[in-house]
Amino acid sequence: MPIQRLSGIIMSQRAYREHDLLVKILTKQAGPVMFLARGAKRPRAKLAGAVQPLCHGQYLGSIHSHGLSYLTAVDHYQMYRHIADDLLANAYATYLLALVDVAFDDRQVLGGWYDQVKAALELMEKGRDPQIIVNVMEIRLLGRFGLAPVWDRCVICGRSDLAMAFSEEFGGMLCANHWSQDPRCLHLRQKTAAYLALLARIDLRRVDAIDVDSWTKADLRQLIDTIYDDEAGLHLKSKRYIQQMHEWDRRLKLNPRKN
Ligand SMILES: [Zn+2]
Repeated sequence: MPIQRLSGIIMSQRAYREHDLLVKILTKQAGPVMFLARGAKRPRAKLAGAVQPLCHGQYLGSIHSHGLSYLTAVDHYQMYRHIADDLLANAYATYLLALVDVAFDDRQVLGGWYDQVKAALELMEKGRDPQIIVNVMEIRLLGRFGLAPVWDRCVICGRSDLAMAFSEEFGGMLCANHWSQDPRCLHLRQKTAAYLALLARIDLRRVDAIDVDSWTKADLRQLIDTIYDDEAGLHLKSKRYIQQMHEWDRRLKLNPRKN
């Protein structure tokens, strides 16, 4: 295969042999691709800086459907500097890239998803709330795991003006008239239900900030985590880390003097 110019976001890297790196890049042209970057581990290698996670730019490489693909050079690149320096944004960005990695096969072209991932990272880079941005992606990516919950109305009667609960069994919302259909449904505050319907149809390229209060954020987190755990069966280490960060934060608020 000839060498191609690729727009990409570095997802991860790991050492390979003495001087080489294996670098996973989310490319616009070919989806997630694992590249061998020869010599990139050498301290003065030109590629070394450009293949760190959270770098993005224009890379040159050749993609092979069998065997290794090769990263040969970088044209220009930047790092998402704020994300790299901010503990929470970094954790969410790392998780988002890990989630995309499992949601798509290697060399599966992402189409519009690539722009949504890029828009998500750019909003985080601007300092916007990383949880809500990643929640939007999580809600939308459920479709990649064969789940497409109905968020904006009752799945049985279509009403949207009553109190809502989420039913895993029915794959969406149940209005108060239909809660009896699923005794295990998860009751939601009205505000949370409204936000779910809103977030599910947001195009991240077209928003600047999404302001959500901390109660609603906690509810959204809990519901989305439950769906990913129970139904998608996904248990990513990077998600676990975020959950621990929120747990520490909660304890600090409960016991301010102890800490
Ligand atoms: Zn109903």
